[in-house]
Parts: sequence; C-alpha cells; structure tokens
Amino acid sequence: MTILKKRPYNFAAGPAAIPESVLKRCQEELLDYQGLGVSILELGHRTKVFESLVLEVEQKLRQAIAAPENYKILFLHGGARLQFSGIPLNLLGKNPEADYLITGHWSQVAFQEAQKYAPVQCVGTSEDQEFFGLPAVDTWKINPNAAYRYCCSNETLVGVQFQEFPLLDEVPWVVDMTSDFLSRCIDVNRFGLIFASTQKTMGTSGLCVVLVREDLLNQKMSITPTVTDFAEQVKQHSLYNTPNVFAIYILGLMLDWLAEQGGVAGTEKINQRKAEKLYQFIDQGDFYRNRVEVSARSMMNVSFNLPTPDLEKLFLQEATKHNLLNLKGHSLTGGARASLYNPIPEAAVDALLDFMRAFQNNHAGSFTL
Ligand code: PMP
Repeated sequence: MTILKKRPYNFAAGPAAIPESVLKRCQEELLDYQGLGVSILELGHRTKVFESLVLEVEQKLRQAIAAPENYKILFLHGGARLQFSGIPLNLLGKNPEADYLITGHWSQVAFQEAQKYAPVQCVGTSEDQEFFGLPAVDTWKINPNAAYRYCCSNETLVGVQFQEFPLLDEVPWVVDMTSDFLSRCIDVNRFGLIFASTQKTMGTSGLCVVLVREDLLNQKMSITPTVTDFAEQVKQHSLYNTPNVFAIYILGLMLDWLAEQGGVAGTEKINQRKAEKLYQFIDQGDFYRNRVEVSARSMMNVSFNLPTPDLEKLFLQEATKHNLLNLKGHSLTGGARASLYNPIPEAAVDALLDFMRAFQNNHAGSFTL
C-alpha cells in the first residue's frame, strides 16, 4: 500500500480533513481491534466491547467540554439535518412555540423543517444583509414563552459566527454547532441543547452528537419516531437500533487527538491564530475580499472573493497544483472558502498565505480595480 510522503492540505468544508495520526491509528486497528482478531466494524453493537466503546467516547466528550451530568449525550443517525426535525418533534409536544434566528442557509433550512411540525417564529434575521452579518440583539423579537430559542452558531457557507449567546430570559438555547463544535470553549450550562454532525470537527459523516439537558426530555410530540426520540435513546445509550459504529469509533480517536493538542482550550488558541492571520492578510489590500461583517467573522470558515470570476477559477486551479485542496466556495455563494477546522495545522494557513501572496503578485496587474 502506498502512503503519500506529504499529504496535501485539505481545506474542505465537510467531510473535512482528519489528522494523519488518526487515519493511521484507524488503519492500524482496522484488521484487529484490541487483539480481538476482528475489526470494530464487524462486532455486534450489543457486545460488551462496543457498549464500552460508546460509554468511553461519551466520557471523553463529556470531559472535553466539561458537560455536567444533567446533560445527556447521544450519538444519533442522520447527521444534523435529521435533528432539524428531531428537535421540534422532541421539544414542542407541550408548548408548540419556538424562536428561530435566521442567519444563513442552515438556520433557514432548520426553520423551514420545524414549520412542518409547529407554528415556530422567526425572531430575527440577517437576510437584509444577504446573511453576511448577524441581526443585532436589540432587534430580536423574542417570545419569552417559547419552548426554545434556536440558532446556528456558525453558518458554514459564508462563515458567519455568533460570538456569544445572550441569556435574555429562561428560554433554553438550542444551537446547531455542526461547524464549530470543539473549536472553542463554551459553557455548556448556557444551553438547553447542542447538536453537531461529526464530519467537520469530529471525524466522519452520518453521525450527530446531541447534548440535551435532562429537564427537556419530557416534552416530545406523540408522533416522534422512536429512532429520534431523545428520551428513548438516552434510556438505550444511543443503541435503540444499530448505530453508526465507524463514526463513533472515529470520534473516539478524534477526542484522543484533541486531548493531545491541549484539549478544546489549546486548540481554540491555534484556531484564533489561524483565522486572524488569514483575515489580516485579506484585509491588507483590495485583491481578496471577505464580505462578512467583522464582528461576525467565523474562525472556522473564511470565505473570500477575487476581483473577477476568471481569476477565482484560476486561483482554485493553481491552488490545487500547489497541494492546497478544496478551496472552492459553496455553490450558493461562489468564490473561495478556506475551512480551518481543528485538524488544519497552522502550517497549512502559512502555506495558503504564501500561495495567496504569490498569486496576487502575479495577477494584480492583469485587471483594474
Ligand atoms: N448545519 C450546519 C451548520 C452545516 O454546516 C451542515 C452541513 N454542512 C449541516 C447542518 C447539515 O449536516 P448533515 O449533512 O450532517 O446533516
């Protein structure tokens, strides 16, 4: 088998880069898990071995984010999107009112999905800013009687991130952290429910981590499918049906890797440096342009445009030749986007900056601003 000497830097938005050491460990363990002679992929999910793996991964995650015991951790199928339904189904059975903040594609889709089940309200939106910013808190038309208040902490498409989650009343925050979970320190106690699919900051796809405060487990709608019934899944330790074995296993390896990096706090510092470097460089001139309001800029997804679509195309082609992969912006927004999740080392950003500088020097004269 060939192992590439130097792997390219992969700035994909998701499924995203996984640290080389994690991939290698997975490769080593794949034929023989812990001396059992078979791989983890071939074991029954109700064996002692797999059950203890689930508990171990849960424990590692709880520790990584200091989640108190009254928060239950679930490993569910269907990525984050299934929870766009799972959340209203589980939380709006007693009180059908919920507040949604719409700050981009992902919160908009979640809002549309929730509307199928209950008369949820949009309480603030940045649509008038074409989703390149966040609505000011004092413009939110909040409902103090809502069952929950929903937002997406980091809108992945253009890179718009909430810096804080103000506690305005008793309404619990329900937050989609798919593209920034484990990238910065959070106080779990501020949230009622956090969910994140795993293919960006936690390994591979098809799995959604849900952290739910115990007291929110008794308000489901009677139509809630059992597979996405949080209370039932808590009871069964996420093993109501056959879970995504591989993604849970990889999540465990990712959490070991995260601990080696100094945990969430250690990696947050690196993430801050990576993003600051890139934004600072973009802001230095007119060649590259990031359209996001400075106070809402994402530490995870940095989107940028070049002066013309032709230059953008050339930029992406040349970047690939320089081993800088998957910098294409989302099809809805175009341009370029560098996703800087935890596994992206600072050296990758340095290499990207060298390339961006050289590309600018070579092409800045070929157009007039
Ligand atoms: N929320 C956010 C913020 C996302 O970025 C994505 C995927 N890019 C999703 C939800 C949907 O995740 P999944 O494909 O795992 O359902």
